[in-house]
Amino acid sequence: MDAYPQWNETPPETLPALLETAAARFVARPALWFMGRRWTYRALGEAVDRIAAGLQRAGVGPGVKVGLCLPNTPYSVMFYFAILKAGGVVVNYNPLYVAREIAGQMADSETAIMVVPDLARLVGPVLEAGAKRVILCPMRGILPPWKAFALYTLRRKEIARPRDGRIIPLAALTAGVGQPARVSVGASDLAVLQYTGGTTGVPKGAMLTHANLLACMRQTLACAPEVKPGEERVLAVLPLFHVIGMTVLMNCSAQIGAEIILLPRFSIDEVMRTIKQTRPSIFPVVPTIVTAVLAATATHGAEDIASIRMWIGGGAPFSEELCKRLKALTGLQFIEAYGLSETSGASASNTTFSPIKPGSVGRAVPDTTIEIRDPEHPERRLGVGEKGEICIRGPQVMMGYWKRPEETARAFIDGVLRTGDIGYLDEDGYLFLVDRLKDVILAGGYNIYPRIIEEALYRHPAVAEAMVVGVPDAYRGEAPKAFVVLRPGEQVGAAALLAFLEGEISKIEMPREIEIRASLPKTAIGKLAKKELQAAERTRHAG
Ligand code: AMP
Repeated sequence: MDAYPQWNETPPETLPALLETAAARFVARPALWFMGRRWTYRALGEAVDRIAAGLQRAGVGPGVKVGLCLPNTPYSVMFYFAILKAGGVVVNYNPLYVAREIAGQMADSETAIMVVPDLARLVGPVLEAGAKRVILCPMRGILPPWKAFALYTLRRKEIARPRDGRIIPLAALTAGVGQPARVSVGASDLAVLQYTGGTTGVPKGAMLTHANLLACMRQTLACAPEVKPGEERVLAVLPLFHVIGMTVLMNCSAQIGAEIILLPRFSIDEVMRTIKQTRPSIFPVVPTIVTAVLAATATHGAEDIASIRMWIGGGAPFSEELCKRLKALTGLQFIEAYGLSETSGASASNTTFSPIKPGSVGRAVPDTTIEIRDPEHPERRLGVGEKGEICIRGPQVMMGYWKRPEETARAFIDGVLRTGDIGYLDEDGYLFLVDRLKDVILAGGYNIYPRIIEEALYRHPAVAEAMVVGVPDAYRGEAPKAFVVLRPGEQVGAAALLAFLEGEISKIEMPREIEIRASLPKTAIGKLAKKELQAAERTRHAG
């Protein structure tokens, strides 16, 4: 099997050092593109320094948690590196979350300050969630002048102008600051709290260190050694608040001086327009994006996407058919990877230089061991071709879960991370995924935890029993469907339950359907039999 190339540059020890090196090395090269505006690496470095100094003045230092609650914008990148440079810890929030979800994560992580753009739909939930201090970042600071004018006049209702003592406008944060003070942050210090349901569905923060994230960055780059420093343009439509985006789009880009083309949300028309306009060379994707691009090329034409030389992705299963269709259109082999929040990004990956085996997510990335263990007796390692729980050891694996020693202990066996995914290794070390032990629905690249939806349903006074399963979905791969049993005498309908859920869970978690039943299947000991219901749904969809 082909070996990984040697890494012949001195790697940075911390994430702020990564960006400082990039700013010094790629100076006038474009770093960020947003809605037609560009920032060079020098400008990005200067913005990071200013914000870091402002954050320090506001009390951010070692161990202080700062929450990022932003769609992909230049502020995401600036604040990510600035928080770390100030010595603080980044807590990533999904900006689609409702106030209740944000409040839970803020309390658990002990977030001291939240960062949001001045968009009403994002500021509202953060204030409602009880944030103590909120840094408000004006969209006019990052949009081209005419787009800013349109937003602040024609669509001014979308802009938040809160009169609230907790708000710190960005301009006030950075007014009159000098250089940030040097803080002693080391490779083994906590850098990011990455919230995930893990194998249990209870939201918890995977503790990722500077060393974890930088290891994952090097491992990812080792899979594509032909990327050209200072010449790549990476299309950033995957969210930067998820590990794939954080590692591939931000950290790898800073290492190779790539331009990050930021799109705040996925709309296929916007994606196709942006590809034509900015000519990206690398496109990290989830399966739904590939499906949409393939459909769009029927009208837009394949030459529009000819600038893309590398299609890479992970997070959800890419069918062989999808990869084949992409290859037929572009002539390019899709590079699929597999990883988790707990591993900072990819831990197994295909490469640009090794043969690709259909249906496999590739081999372990450098310095990484993948073991297959018996899920019932995890101390027992299984052999080639045997299916079992995928377990990972490597420098990218988290320190543990924030403030959850018991869950951390359960997540490891002999120092190896248990992923909750089932797979096998072939004789060449290629990993094949076959199933999941954990109760999670992979919907278009987002992880949806049935437990969150079930708990929300149980908060409705008419609900006696609730169960949520993933059902096949032509576009998203899987989508959540809820089954509900009502309390005796209750009459509420599915539409009313869906309306109730709107205030409880985010849009992406909304069940595609709620079916009200007289009873739900139970196991011999009376537990709700989820597997049974799921199998029945799959058969129904297949038929
Ligand atoms: P997250 O922590 O959100 O990154 O989700 C990690 C989970 O996504 C893994 O444990 C897998 O269940 C799933 N996953 C990641 N990559 C892939 C892939 N290439 N194919 C199928 N499932 C994947």
